[in-house]
Amino acid sequence: MDIKIPVIRSSMPPFEKYVEKISGLWQSRHLTNAGALHEQLAKKLEGYLEADHVSLFTNGHLALQLGIQALELSGEVITTPFTFASTTQAIVQNGLKPVFCDIDPVRFTIDPSKIEALITQQTSAIVAVHVYGIPCDTDGIETIAKKHGLKVIYDAAHAFGVRYMDKPIAQYGDYSMFSFHATKVFHTVEGGGATYSDATLKAKLHSMRDFGLVGEDVAYVGTNAKMSEFHAAMGLCNLDEVDEAIAKRKAASERYDARLNGIRGLQLFPQIEGLVRSYSYYPVVISEEFGKDRDEVAAMLKEQGILARKYFYPLTSAFSSYQGQFAPGDTPVAQKIARQVLCLPMYADLTSKDIDTVCNALLAR
Ligand SMILES: *Cc1c(COP(=O)(O)O)cnc(C)c1O
Repeated sequence: MDIKIPVIRSSMPPFEKYVEKISGLWQSRHLTNAGALHEQLAKKLEGYLEADHVSLFTNGHLALQLGIQALELSGEVITTPFTFASTTQAIVQNGLKPVFCDIDPVRFTIDPSKIEALITQQTSAIVAVHVYGIPCDTDGIETIAKKHGLKVIYDAAHAFGVRYMDKPIAQYGDYSMFSFHATKVFHTVEGGGATYSDATLKAKLHSMRDFGLVGEDVAYVGTNAKMSEFHAAMGLCNLDEVDEAIAKRKAASERYDARLNGIRGLQLFPQIEGLVRSYSYYPVVISEEFGKDRDEVAAMLKEQGILARKYFYPLTSAFSSYQGQFAPGDTPVAQKIARQVLCLPMYADLTSKDIDTVCNALLAR
């Protein structure tokens, strides 16, 4: 079957604009290692995300992995299994033990009422995810963290441009990671950023992303996670267009809502007070009353050339790479949502006609 409507489609800036942005590189030959475009992008993102500090990386995953290393966490980390592989891997790759907490059935983010029972002498942090750009219950999480002296890290890969309770999402917790992967609302092809307010983290992170180098010495067991000038140039171009892209996504999301709201068996994006969205995904949770289950719906859409994604399924705690280490049944809400959720096509230039095609196919059950 030919794919007629993909699940995502990367935004592209005007070609000439990108060419102009990179043209100086043939003169400067400064292609990576914090070049001029890299520095410009970091500055502009500090403004856009309203963060004290932004550091750029090769990708979001390494921004998260190095953040965990820089914060010197140890032992156990309480986290969610309802996320992309990256979140759990960043914890495990640091030699730490993920302790999976169940999620809230409405927000799909970590359920603060279930965190305290999981805290032990070894717990050093909470790594939570603003999944689909739905903000975590930040008050709930941060109250517990403060009481127990835990660090709070947010995987904000889906939350670029989100505001919550009159604050930009980057201002919550000790550290947030944003993914600038080609599939995300704002992208640098591959890329990622970290936001934080502790100024002492900056030199450490910048050393760690460059093999741990500090002058001639190597002070950390780092890695290579630097963003190149070509990627930064893409970011500078896309940043100029991101507000327009978000406005288009909003219109697309509202068109879906108009067709799907009130349909029995479909749970849509939650209404959350104080939330300003950036419409990164359009998740629907499909329960029995709908008449067809999630897998049947996905197959039915695929037959018509429409790609929807089982995102996130399976839970990270069910991956074969961790076989025998975790019990996915310990997080029953997450397990249920993972079986029922489907992300419908969502991108800035998704047309009204395509949305109607998706909704017609979905509702023809
Ligand atoms: C995309 C994503 C990441 C990883 O970001 P990359 O930039 O692809 O490395 C991490 N967590 C979540 C939830 C993501 O969606």
